[in-house]
Amino acid sequence: MHRRGFLAGVLSCPLCAQAVRAAEADWNYETPNKWGELDPAFKLCSIGREQSPIDLENAVPANIDRLVIEWEPQAFAIVNNGHTIQANAEPGGFLRIGEEKYELKQFHFHAPAEHALNGERAAMEVHFVHAQPGGKLAVVAAFLTAGGKNTAFSRIMKVAPAAEGEARLERPLNPRALAQKQGPLYRYEGSLTTPPCAEVVDWNIFAAPVRVARADIDAFRRIFPNNARPLQPINRRFLLRGK
Ligand SMILES: [Zn+2]
Repeated sequence: MHRRGFLAGVLSCPLCAQAVRAAEADWNYETPNKWGELDPAFKLCSIGREQSPIDLENAVPANIDRLVIEWEPQAFAIVNNGHTIQANAEPGGFLRIGEEKYELKQFHFHAPAEHALNGERAAMEVHFVHAQPGGKLAVVAAFLTAGGKNTAFSRIMKVAPAAEGEARLERPLNPRALAQKQGPLYRYEGSLTTPPCAEVVDWNIFAAPVRVARADIDAFRRIFPNNARPLQPINRRFLLRGK
């Protein structure tokens, strides 16, 4: 049991505390198809019908509310929580979708990407996790691919702890550099991609990848060679694609 990882998870996502409180079992990416058996609190990982990630295919073109991203540059705390590298946010960053307003709690990374685009997974994916006081979550996701220079990602990987622990950026970092609004936006209703797999997430995924340095992807994969959950069935859900 990675106790520190568990506590870091609770602290970094206070609005998930209710869901996470019962999550006493440790889990890992060796046996993601068994998460639901590890703890009664994880049962949605096995029996949920609105799970994430999914393959982004057969999307329905739609007029969807555009995202209004109001994040602020911050000297984020960069945490290795045993499952990913995560940047914990101070209060004050927001996301608006139509009438809904969410606060940025943290962002973190997966390798390879968790969502696929027509069957293909990008090298990495970043998740910006936002919450409402009631516990509803909205995640803004973007794919990262090798072949460029992204100073924000380089700065994060430069300080990212190789073992469980925390570092802090010396200067503010603008997270917008990791989620560029270009190309189509995909939206669907799904779940956390880690235990307890709660089905409370409004997913918003930018299809056009953000280019980052291959060396930084390699640096992440040296710490987490594979922290992507397998694809889940879409079942009776709509996947929307907006402009
Ligand atoms: Zn994630």
